[in-house]
Amino acid sequence: MICLQRSRQGKVDPVTLGKLITGQVDQLRVLLVEDDELIANGVREALRRRAYQVDWVSDGKDALNAAMHNPFDLIILDLGLPGLDGLQVLSALRSHQKNTPAIVLSARGTTQNRIEGLNAGADDYLVKPFDLEELFARIHAIERRSSGAATNVLTLGDIELDLAALRVLYRGSEVSLQRREFSLLKKLMESPRQVFTREQLEESLYGWTSDLGSNAIDVYVHNIRKKLYGDVIKTLRGVGYRIDPNLAD
Ligand code: CA
Repeated sequence: MICLQRSRQGKVDPVTLGKLITGQVDQLRVLLVEDDELIANGVREALRRRAYQVDWVSDGKDALNAAMHNPFDLIILDLGLPGLDGLQVLSALRSHQKNTPAIVLSARGTTQNRIEGLNAGADDYLVKPFDLEELFARIHAIERRSSGAATNVLTLGDIELDLAALRVLYRGSEVSLQRREFSLLKKLMESPRQVFTREQLEESLYGWTSDLGSNAIDVYVHNIRKKLYGDVIKTLRGVGYRIDPNLAD
């Protein structure tokens, strides 16, 4: 029941990985580790409805491998898993200085269980059965902590992204962007001095399981330029994209 259709293991360098992990406020890339298919489907659907990008694994070893080698922003981790127990996954990640925020989602509900989970490196611990709204409240709390942001608004130059409402304001006027366009703009705005390759942008917008047209990123960039102003995203030929550097000054 593993849904890793293709792995992009090792494609992202550690520096980029760090930049991807920090500063994320919304629409994160989530690794869902859950061997109960029913729960996994429910959580995955709920996350997707809220515009999160989700990759799902059902085995502890796959989870460790995936989390070690891919730029996830958040791990939602069951404990009772085939292959490797969730606590072992967590301990192994932390011992490798892999500090991706993790929320444990487990039926193990005693105080001792929670203490063990938090001591193993979980950022939060939620006992099954759980309320999806509570899960999202906890995810949002982690996002705020990760980003260091007191608000959910990301501003750069004349562009303002309301990450909670998924609204874009340009010079105070609302601009209608599609979800992927919003995610792409957000990604660029979060690291305004960084040049992203097309591959990195694809990686950040899609999971392993998506079939992506080779020019999808170009199309999104074209649309954003059309809707905001032409030079908001700079193309560095043969390298990639970055946000207009004037916005960052
Ligand atoms: Ca389980």
